[in-house]
Amino acid sequence: VTPTPFTVSRVTSLRRRVDGWKRRGQSIAFVPTMGALHDGHRRLIERAAGKGRRVVVSIFVNPTQFGPGEDYAAYPRARRADLKLCREAGADLVFAPGVREVYPAGFATTVHVEGLDRTLCAPHRPGHFDGVTTVVLKLLEMVRPDRLLLGRKDAQQAVICGRMIRDLNLPVVLQVIPTVREPDGLAISSRNRYLTQEERAAAPALYQALDAGRRAIAEGERSAKGVIDLVRRRLDVAGLFRVQYIELVDPRTLEPVEPKPGEQLLAAAAFLGRARLIDNIVVRTGRASRRDATRGASR
Ligand code: AMP
Repeated sequence: VTPTPFTVSRVTSLRRRVDGWKRRGQSIAFVPTMGALHDGHRRLIERAAGKGRRVVVSIFVNPTQFGPGEDYAAYPRARRADLKLCREAGADLVFAPGVREVYPAGFATTVHVEGLDRTLCAPHRPGHFDGVTTVVLKLLEMVRPDRLLLGRKDAQQAVICGRMIRDLNLPVVLQVIPTVREPDGLAISSRNRYLTQEERAAAPALYQALDAGRRAIAEGERSAKGVIDLVRRRLDVAGLFRVQYIELVDPRTLEPVEPKPGEQLLAAAAFLGRARLIDNIVVRTGRASRRDATRGASR
């Protein structure tokens, strides 16, 4: 008997395995990644593995979501360590296709979700989210999972993919997992390994600044500009950061909003050396604000 491989690179092999599980009535959860896996990915895979589900993890550094001058070529690749983490976290199968398997020669189709691309990362990374939605839709068609797990750390990505799933009636349930952080608050990211020692020491200021903004709203700040200026001052004091944006938006429409009872998303992107870091916090105010504030949203 040939042992069943843990890693496949072809869609046909992937489908054979997944179809076998489905015939036995097993449910499939899917975690798409770009590799260089860390404890954030580990949490997604662990959560996917609950309740007897079969878990497929994809590892694919998707060229179409990188802009010119971004870090596609330099993006960290660590296949052996990635496979170890996938096994430990409870994955059943890793799908690691080559670029040609995903984008055959002459590939000409793009998925574009209109209207959620006016704020946050979208204006700074033209075409990025079209690359994301195109590859996510393709991966969903390849894997055909019952459940898709994405991280809140990439909040705009999760909102846009959620809208695509709804708009296209994709038969998959989206589950968004809270951001996994280092003990000092820094959101874990594959790109954190670009940081020098000095930059790594400064990096938690991004989360701390957003958290200061969240607290200001909880304590009654009612101007988005006031919140954003506060976050910006915190990052200025920390030094080293080159801020790309700080925005307060509605968590569903991603349109700019003023602080008000309910939920807002406070999000920022900043360069620290060659690393572009993003982070966000869900701000909840209103009757439950005190309890939610101490629980620390999106931790
Ligand atoms: P990536 O490999 O960076 O494309 O990320 C793959 C998935 O992991 C995406 O759904 C991310 O949102 C999620 N992810 C990355 N970092 C974290 C983190 N620190 N906490 C939670 N999810 C994360």
